Amino acid sequence: MPVFTNNRQAKHKRLQVFIHGAVQGVGFRPHVYRLARDLNLVGWVINNSQGVRIEVEGLAFDLEQFLDRLKSEKPPLAQVTSIESRYVKPVGFSDFRVRHSDSNGEKTALILPDIATCPECQAELFDPKDRRYRYPFINCTNCGPRFSIVETLPYDRPNTTMKRFPLCPLCQKEYDAPEHRRFHAQPIACSTCGPTLEFWNKATGPCAHGDEALKMAEHLVSSGHVLALKGVGGFQLIVDARNADAIARLRKCKGRGPKPLAIMCPDLGYTRSICHLSALERKLLLSPASPIVLLKKRSRAFDAVAPGMRDYGVMLPCSPLHHLLMRDLGYPIVATSGNRSEEPICIENEEAIERLSDIADAFLMHDRPIARHVDDSIARVILGDVQILRRARGYAPLPINVDLEIPSCIALGAHLKNSVAIVAQNKIFISQHIGNLETAESYRAFETTARDLPILYDCQPTFVAHDKHPDYVSTFYARGTPLERISVQHHLAHVYSCMADNQLQAPVLGISWDGTGYGDDKSVWGGESFLIEDSAERRVSSITQFPLLGGDIAALQPRRVALALLQASFPKSLGDYAKLPALRAFTASEYRILEQITLKHRNPLTSSIGRLFDGVSSILGICQTNRFEGQAAALLEFLAATAPKNQLPYPYILHDQGGFTTFDWKPMIRAIVEEYTNGVNPPIIAARFHQTLAAYAVDIASRHGVPSIALTGGCMQNRLLCELIAETLKENGFNPFIHRRVPPNDGGICVGQAYAVGRTHQTSPSLQHETPCV
Ligand SMILES: [Zn+2]
Ligand SMILES: [Zn+2]
Repeated sequence: MPVFTNNRQAKHKRLQVFIHGAVQGVGFRPHVYRLARDLNLVGWVINNSQGVRIEVEGLAFDLEQFLDRLKSEKPPLAQVTSIESRYVKPVGFSDFRVRHSDSNGEKTALILPDIATCPECQAELFDPKDRRYRYPFINCTNCGPRFSIVETLPYDRPNTTMKRFPLCPLCQKEYDAPEHRRFHAQPIACSTCGPTLEFWNKATGPCAHGDEALKMAEHLVSSGHVLALKGVGGFQLIVDARNADAIARLRKCKGRGPKPLAIMCPDLGYTRSICHLSALERKLLLSPASPIVLLKKRSRAFDAVAPGMRDYGVMLPCSPLHHLLMRDLGYPIVATSGNRSEEPICIENEEAIERLSDIADAFLMHDRPIARHVDDSIARVILGDVQILRRARGYAPLPINVDLEIPSCIALGAHLKNSVAIVAQNKIFISQHIGNLETAESYRAFETTARDLPILYDCQPTFVAHDKHPDYVSTFYARGTPLERISVQHHLAHVYSCMADNQLQAPVLGISWDGTGYGDDKSVWGGESFLIEDSAERRVSSITQFPLLGGDIAALQPRRVALALLQASFPKSLGDYAKLPALRAFTASEYRILEQITLKHRNPLTSSIGRLFDGVSSILGICQTNRFEGQAAALLEFLAATAPKNQLPYPYILHDQGGFTTFDWKPMIRAIVEEYTNGVNPPIIAARFHQTLAAYAVDIASRHGVPSIALTGGCMQNRLLCELIAETLKENGFNPFIHRRVPPNDGGICVGQAYAVGRTHQTSPSLQHETPCV
């Protein structure tokens, strides 16, 4: 322990301080510089691979003040995880300096995400007297690109993609001036020395630069064309959100079907005119992460953007380039990822021209390279708090701290909505959203990230965690590594992910519902619950299985699921229901073929609640073909949300055997068909269906008496279902936990897999390489 007194006459001392956390690239060193100068202290401050290190000399009283103020005053974006300090013998420094970064040692400093333009930079951007007036790459220590430009730690300009832009004398002066807002702002730039815009016409190639390029791009959008714009973490495709024809063309070329598209509004006022906006939603829109926020529609003026959905996905301008564009246009634009459906977003100029030229009419590009692709994030407010649904720009790669010792590992995530995680120093670092590993491009992005993330943090994983599915490309990748493999069942990983997110301690009951996941019995799971205890985990409930008629194609055709549910519910009298929309959706010959398939072939069995949603949606005539993942379920949810609250659940049967509960949905399906045939309003039926699942969730919880319930899996993206379950659980004395920082969908699977490595390590020092669950 240091020994010092408050006596101002005490002799000089030297204090060493080590600060860990997200402390690089946020103006921490200038902050320390100003603090030291304020208190007449001498010494130095440096960024190193672990964070920030300070040595200061002065009077004991002043050093004590310094330490107190370091703890209480922080730059706005800094996230300090720990401050360690010790007194040592003084060496006689003469002044206070900011020293060059040191790249030795373990790399555990947190890399910051890309940060939306701060209010000061916005003001300068639109100030004709400012030297960066209308400069689309303005930034400072409080804002600008970070994760999308960093190549290696420590975070210093030569280690970023800004290294190719030598500073002009004016920028250098600001960079070197400790009192300046741009002191050591690594991406600092101006129109003299920094990146520039270029407008590319498909026919003629580059045809304008700088502000003229921007103006040409704006004219293109206003005249109903598709613009590919190089944003912060990759290309975006942009059209006028008021122009339904342009949106239709974008959808067609992108192969996107009716899937909702995000819109960027010029400002909050505009957003408020088309959406309902709570105080927290407003704060989220304006936050440094600046995600796409799901907001309840107020006006249907932009329905073509998200047909049939409850929400618009809205974001505000998140970079200086977007601020300029939106200020000039003054109307909302569709801003969607620059890719074909299911492929990763383009980051290189040449790559964009090659891959997007069938979709975009022209390109607005710049010469600042993007080190890695980072999509726009998606978030929403649910049950009074923020929940991230797609974790990318503004959030990646910030880590999740966990209360579990996890050996150094890499977790490869799920097949859909893939993201990758690594564990270093008990923190789970989550990569940006990668996407569905269904194309060669996505797989390449996955491989790059799986290679890039451990190198960035200088972490040498001992274990690789992956999905239990033997045929996933991520499983093949895991087999190709020299690391020790741990395979984790998909739905168990969801539960662990929710536990990690909420720092929950066992015992926990995890309700893990989604569309698809490889089960321990090789069937397709998706309606599972797990009891997690200190040293064991056990699957405790599921739903009655039904066949996926024709296999995977059933996930695209809710009518096939409906047929399977109806066959099981009315084994002898299906013919009486030939008028149901689900059955009418088949032609006579299709129907005959499906009957043959049912009788003669072994169809894969599933216990998926996601498919149950599809089936009910089809029975009610809402959706017979899924044109994007989750469409039938989303439409059913939207319909249910229009019904009066407090509907009664339908009947169902629970079979209990050996501590395992099976939810038999046949009585529910029969009741749904009866009500539908009797002319009950479909919104009421849809609402009663949701209520039935909530009642079932409470039944499972009641059987185990564990207070903490983790609600996880893709089905928990259904706002109505998630809120109903959480409220009903609370009314019955349970503590429901939902996802916050980690997505409840497959984007969070990597976190659960990493957590499973920690659990396996904890419960079995000799390490089992298959996570057990009964
Ligand atoms: Zn700024
Ligand atoms: Zn400059």
